[in-house]
Amino acid sequence: MNPTAKPLSNGHCRVCSAKIAPFMSFGRMPIANGFLRPDETGNEYFFELAPAFCESCGMFQLLEQPQPEKMFHEQYAFYSSTSRYMQAHFEVFALSVINTVLAERKDPFVVELGSNDGIMLRHFKARGVRHLGIEPSANVAEVARTQGISTISAFFDHKLADGIAAEHGRADAILAANVMCHIPDLPGVAAGVQRLLKPDGVFIFEDPYLGDMIAKTSYDQIYDEHVFIFSANSVRCAFEPFALELIDVMPQITHGGSMRYTLAPKGSRQVSIKVNEQLAKEAALGLDRAETYHRFKANCENSRDALMRTLERLRGQEKRVVGYGATSKSTTVINYCGMTPEHVEFISDTTPIKQGRLSPGAHIPVKPYGEFTKRYPDYALLFAWNHAAEIREKEAGFVSAGGRWIVYVPEVAIVA
Ligand SMILES: [Zn+2]
Repeated sequence: MNPTAKPLSNGHCRVCSAKIAPFMSFGRMPIANGFLRPDETGNEYFFELAPAFCESCGMFQLLEQPQPEKMFHEQYAFYSSTSRYMQAHFEVFALSVINTVLAERKDPFVVELGSNDGIMLRHFKARGVRHLGIEPSANVAEVARTQGISTISAFFDHKLADGIAAEHGRADAILAANVMCHIPDLPGVAAGVQRLLKPDGVFIFEDPYLGDMIAKTSYDQIYDEHVFIFSANSVRCAFEPFALELIDVMPQITHGGSMRYTLAPKGSRQVSIKVNEQLAKEAALGLDRAETYHRFKANCENSRDALMRTLERLRGQEKRVVGYGATSKSTTVINYCGMTPEHVEFISDTTPIKQGRLSPGAHIPVKPYGEFTKRYPDYALLFAWNHAAEIREKEAGFVSAGGRWIVYVPEVAIVA
């Protein structure tokens, strides 16, 4: 999110500067959301996707990241509001802030980092709450503004925080959803939050959760944009130098397992018992130990081998396999496993901008959803596994026509 941040951490933890090294590599990887026109395959950009774990502060992170301008640009076309499920999720999130944090406050002010098309802020606007969205992607920010949601197109840091505080006053609540894990300069954002927040304000954010990723071997959470995968422990450590204390945690089912973290100026609020409970769970799961990540590496390799054995077998039987959902996450799976259009005929996706393009790296064609329903394949490879319940309900017709799903989280399996 911050264009001035270095894509390389030079072998040091991005949070605490301890010397760290990758514990595994997913190999040569294209930009996860870099769907190509057929004439663009010649000069595709690749980098090495290699996560590291800092034993000193517990942060799971990428040491090498593509230049931000390769990932986030005008064509960056992820509009949060396209998912009905996510709409409902953010309404509940917004209402919980309105009914708890903001209750009985006079003229409260809410700031959202990475506010996208206003999927969450619209609920504050609807109730007349002063709000400001900060969305670096200009075309997405424009969508929010046309709906009357106050939004600026900028990158958040301490300077912007000071500017906002001078113009609007300090914030009662700062919110972020699926944004913090994208920002390489986490300390820079933490410094901004510290300056923008009122002494009795709260900072609430949610992101994919490391504990779920390790437990489910859902390694597709690891891609260029996700520079961090957080745990309660690593969040606590990262914000401590900025006098922000982790006071609450709340697991979420979104994105295949996320965690909502609430932070407040140190000493301003009571720390929930759930924080210590979560830290204890993380210790029991071994999230603070290097050996856990060596085991995760072996689990990723086993998952990859099992999935490719399945796809090779089906190819040998001349079965038709179609991918379901051209997600950013699928780029890691497709390229790490070494899938080709020989394994997956095409990927079905409802996003118009992706249709007619090729998947990053493997160049599997992306086709409109109608191509999937027109002639059902024998098998659908469920790349959008985090929406499995919603999708399998919607596609009951595919299964009654004899189709089967191939899933790979938490284990490779063929299911009805
Ligand atoms: Zn560290």
